[in-house]
Amino acid sequence: MTNPKTSILIIYTGGTIGMIEDAQSGALKTFNFDHLFNEIPELKKYNLRIASFSFDPLIDSSNMNPSNWIKIASTIKENYQAYDGFVILHGSDTMAYTASALSFMLENLAKPVILTGSQLPIGVIRTDGKENLLTAIEIAAAQKDGKPMVPEVCIYFENNLYRGNRTHKFNAENFSAFISANYPSLAKVGVHIRYNHQAILSPKINFLIVHSQLDQNIAILKLFPGINQTVVDATLQINGLKAVILETYGSGNAPTDSWFLNSLENAIKKGIIVLNITQCKGGSVVQGKYETSSDSLKIGVTGGVDMTTEAAITKLMYLLGENFSTEEVKKLLSISLRGELSEEN
Ligand code: ASP
Repeated sequence: MTNPKTSILIIYTGGTIGMIEDAQSGALKTFNFDHLFNEIPELKKYNLRIASFSFDPLIDSSNMNPSNWIKIASTIKENYQAYDGFVILHGSDTMAYTASALSFMLENLAKPVILTGSQLPIGVIRTDGKENLLTAIEIAAAQKDGKPMVPEVCIYFENNLYRGNRTHKFNAENFSAFISANYPSLAKVGVHIRYNHQAILSPKINFLIVHSQLDQNIAILKLFPGINQTVVDATLQINGLKAVILETYGSGNAPTDSWFLNSLENAIKKGIIVLNITQCKGGSVVQGKYETSSDSLKIGVTGGVDMTTEAAITKLMYLLGENFSTEEVKKLLSISLRGELSEEN
């Protein structure tokens, strides 16, 4: 049962959920919140106070960027006391990045922030958007003993509630578009919403702190058999580069060619952070497990444990924006700040 005193703010950024077909080209384009609201009369049946804030212009999430994340975070900050939970309507393409970024930006979060969207627009008969939005609202409003059930930044999509900074969009076709390979669902939704209480973070008691300095001097270098020195050096020598995510193979393995290791070592000596993240969607980086990752360890590559690339990139933006020293950033990268990586017990 929902409580009429419970209030939810929907932050509508855009995405397929509210799109309609352009009459001339047939391409999907964003449309306003009233359209969306009218398509879901069920919303009025909820015994909740629901308000909305819309981005203007609404965007396809391929146009999402750190200044939009700051806009979302500051909207939450300004409305934090007035609402019990927040639902963010967002395109699925970059939803995992936004959820990861918000998890780092919103320190001491004690209320639910649930991102959702859909693969089919809300006006389409078979849309997945209705169920996603209605359930996201119900989860954002869910409380036990006066406390929110899920005080985390999450993604709700097709029957699963995930910790946002553990997700990756892996399917452009299925309604089930996200995976969280290294962390269990926070809730499974069928006839009932079954919360996985053990997996959910406890609400923080300190005041919410919103971090809005994000440093974008970061690159991703994805390895592939045959990658050449020109490509590696061009990346590592980017002017102003502070950190690079090295997307490695398996448990963090990389070529052992001396040109490759020398290039990495020179970058690290210049103060560039090299963060080892696996290309695999499940499992963890364990530097030193194979000979092909022992050298990385020796030259000072930082292990990213089982973080997703989305979590790694946004964590780096946040840590570098906070002006920690290089050594502090490296230390914090290997520690769980918001449940984004698995720490050994
Ligand atoms: N291109 C869309 C977006 O990310 C896809 C979606 O909404 O699922 O905004």
